[in-house]
Amino acid sequence: MYKLLLEEIIGKMRKSVSQGEGGMYLDQVYYISSDEGILNLGTSSKFFKEKLESLGFIKKIEDELSERNGSAIKVNIEIKKQDPSKPEQNIQKRDKGGDSPKNHPDLKEEFTFSNFVISTNNELAANAAMAIAKAPGKFYNPFLIYGGVGLGKTHLMHAIGNDIYRRFPEKKVVYVTAEKFTNEFIAVLGQKPKMAAFKNKYRGVDVLLIDDIHFFQGKEGVQEELFNTFNALYEVNRQIVFTCDRHPSELKNLTERMKSRFMSGLNADLKLPDFETRMAILKKKCSRLNVSIKDEVLEFISKNVTTSVRDLESALTKIVAYSDLIRREVTLDVAKEQLSYLTATKQENVSIDRIIKAVAEYFNISSGDIRGRKRTKNIAWPRQIAMYIINHLGEYSMNEIGNEFGKDHTTVIYAIQKVEDSIKSNPTLEPVIQKIEASLKDASEKG
Ligand code: ADP
Ligand code: MG
Repeated sequence: MYKLLLEEIIGKMRKSVSQGEGGMYLDQVYYISSDEGILNLGTSSKFFKEKLESLGFIKKIEDELSERNGSAIKVNIEIKKQDPSKPEQNIQKRDKGGDSPKNHPDLKEEFTFSNFVISTNNELAANAAMAIAKAPGKFYNPFLIYGGVGLGKTHLMHAIGNDIYRRFPEKKVVYVTAEKFTNEFIAVLGQKPKMAAFKNKYRGVDVLLIDDIHFFQGKEGVQEELFNTFNALYEVNRQIVFTCDRHPSELKNLTERMKSRFMSGLNADLKLPDFETRMAILKKKCSRLNVSIKDEVLEFISKNVTTSVRDLESALTKIVAYSDLIRREVTLDVAKEQLSYLTATKQENVSIDRIIKAVAEYFNISSGDIRGRKRTKNIAWPRQIAMYIINHLGEYSMNEIGNEFGKDHTTVIYAIQKVEDSIKSNPTLEPVIQKIEASLKDASEKG
């Protein structure tokens, strides 16, 4: 169940130990089995087991796996010769070979532009990021990306770094989180030579990427240092990129001059992706992982995970891991069961019939009209609203909704999108929908 994650983690660890002997030990690990919360690995001798443990590899696998999984996973390693009849236990080496350029040590290899889905929710930020990567220091300096947790700020920032690193190997790209920058600064306080080295390190770069600058709030000493670093770089047209979890004007306990520096270039925000973008992100991720998951399962995930891209990915990871375990494609029912946490707090599924009836009553037409084929506006519009409400309140796949109306799922997606757009542009629509939805909830509470 955790084999795919394990491969990803070991692949990453192989890269970071490639110079030393560590890689040799990592090659001695193989996958035996796993179950909820437990991963059993094997290696061929006591010597290897001890090495893997003393080099901290087992602990590292455990930590990384637990982090990605979202809950703790215990890793056991036993001494056992690998069964040659089970080649599937091997951990795939995903390395592409010797001649591909080395990756930047501080940047995630998979955080690239090509792995980033661009849509209306992030296009300004993404396009500016790509322009910057082509000509660092020329436009949009500083560039600030802001938005809520798990919406792709770090991904875009790494993509800028990765792209510059590839295009301009001579340029010095430095990525640091605000927290690490602060800790490094504190560690050298009062030590002149070390402080000088710290200043040189950050003032001598071509591209400085500082992630999560909201961390600087209330930390005056380091703000002062950052201010000076900023000026030194800015004066000589070095590219500076920041990310922040909110618009800088909303930051507290930050000097005004620092705030104005943060805002002085281009500020671009990342918003929540809409349904279709969520689908595109999931599909991209599946093709990258080389796994196939049914569309209706992806729709179920996209529909129910509306909080962040990170949550979207973790739901997908659970399904991929499960499909790995059962060695079959996951059906919609199984997915619903595996991801029951997504729908657990929602109210009981409201029936499609009741929703259609409520919408028909509100618009003073018949349920038959809504289910029927008439395309006049006074019927087609309530029909689209009905599809929207069914999707909003119920737990039906796009196909299931479409079937009720004798339409395919793309018609349903279009209808939902249209209603969502209208809600944004027409302030009188939302109260109407709320009223219909409330009438359904009232009725279901009464029994
Ligand atoms: P943030 O830094 O805003 O908290 P991250 O950059 O860490 O968020 O993104 C969380 C996860 O979502 C990452 O795995 C990232 O690859 C993924 N992600 C976010 N936005 C997109 C997107 N538009 N396309 C593809 N993946 C995305
Ligand atoms: Mg981040």
